[in-house]
Amino acid sequence: MKIVFATNNQNKLNEIQKLVPSGIEIQSLNDIQCFDDIPETGATLKENAQQKTNYIRERYDVNCFSDDTGLEIDALNGEPGVFSARYAGEQKDSNDNMALVLEKMLDAKVRTARFKTVISLFLEGKQYFFEGVCEGIIRQEKSGSKGFGYDPIFQPNGYTLTFAEMSMEEKNKISHRGLAVQKLIEFLKKY
Ligand code: IMP
Repeated sequence: MKIVFATNNQNKLNEIQKLVPSGIEIQSLNDIQCFDDIPETGATLKENAQQKTNYIRERYDVNCFSDDTGLEIDALNGEPGVFSARYAGEQKDSNDNMALVLEKMLDAKVRTARFKTVISLFLEGKQYFFEGVCEGIIRQEKSGSKGFGYDPIFQPNGYTLTFAEMSMEEKNKISHRGLAVQKLIEFLKKY
């Protein structure tokens, strides 16, 4: 069975291909000749994830899944949330985004936050969702150089390291996306 992962992020594609049961082939957007900038205009992560799978199934009539992730910071009333990629502007620059978060949180006493990933799966005519959450805190300053996005300022609960100070394997075991992907994989194994 073939399933299209609505992404061109090669890291995400490699990671998931290693985990899926044999017999399932993951295809990228490039593989199906889709070079569009798929709109993500939903008000929630779930809406955005479903918007991407709807876009693909309507045009290509294939099984597909997509993911959408956001960082919710309690002191910022849940921001940046669905705006995580472009919090500091359309340039989608991680350093700009982190600088804006740290500036807004200069005086914040409560520093709790969480990463959330929602995966939307459209398989043989049915819609499924899988969610992964990782709770943690926002550090006062950046630390570490691994990972991407907000990793240097996010410290998961139970750890003294930020995501950017962990190996990719260590992060994947506890991360929002890792947990959501594990749920997807378990589902596909039983399917
Ligand atoms: P996407 O839905 O995976 O494209 O994620 C949206 C935005 O959330 C990214 O551009 C990053 O800024 C942020 N983000 C997503 N996943 C992570 C992560 O694992 N660590 C840090 N930031 C992340």
